[in-house]
Amino acid sequence: MTVQTSPAAPAPASATNAMATLRDRAVWIFDLDNTLYPAACNLFVQVDRRINEFIAGHFNIGMDEARVRQKHFFREYGTTLRGLMMEHDVDPVAYMDYVHDIDVTGVQPSALLADALGGLPGRKIIYTNGSVRHAENVAGRLGILDRFDAVFDIAAGGYVPKPDPRPYATLVERYGVDPTDACMVEDIARNLAPAHALGMTTVWVRGEKEYEKAGVGAGVHIDHTVDDLPAWLAKVAGL
Ligand SMILES: [Mg+2]
Repeated sequence: MTVQTSPAAPAPASATNAMATLRDRAVWIFDLDNTLYPAACNLFVQVDRRINEFIAGHFNIGMDEARVRQKHFFREYGTTLRGLMMEHDVDPVAYMDYVHDIDVTGVQPSALLADALGGLPGRKIIYTNGSVRHAENVAGRLGILDRFDAVFDIAAGGYVPKPDPRPYATLVERYGVDPTDACMVEDIARNLAPAHALGMTTVWVRGEKEYEKAGVGAGVHIDHTVDDLPAWLAKVAGL
């Protein structure tokens, strides 16, 4: 390890200490989609199309009408699945299998992310509104699946999606997490609100879409804002 001795460019002590404190957090909780891989991979375009195909098939309607219904479910219930379950008793397993049957080759493996995750001593958990199968598919493609201790998915949360606080409490209890010694990383800012309320440190992977930004500067507490997660985590890990 090299020690920076140049007096010309000393790192601010407070910033250095903050990063060192972060590295030693006991638990890291990561969202999956558009967090562990960049939104530019456009994976969600495929999922979105599959969601609308599922609705079109289920109700035997055209794609335009399916899109209208999808927006209604998403707006009223937080996720399309929640709406389909509440209003139409749709089987969640069949839905999740269908909508996540996608091609993940657009996601590039990230050696830097794998190294950074490997450099964090704490436990790492993927927390997704998707399924375990989807998380394993994507994390496997990224080359980071073996860095995680667990995947907490929508089924584990009783099909109640983020940001409802109830599944966060379930996660904390199931894995014995001390929230004050945990960090949560997410692209949808409002999904960080329950994490902060529990006492976790919040890391927002800045997104440009309205649904990602909603709440920033207006009630959602963000401790760290990050544009390039692998580079930032590598810094935290001291690589
Ligand atoms: Mg996400």
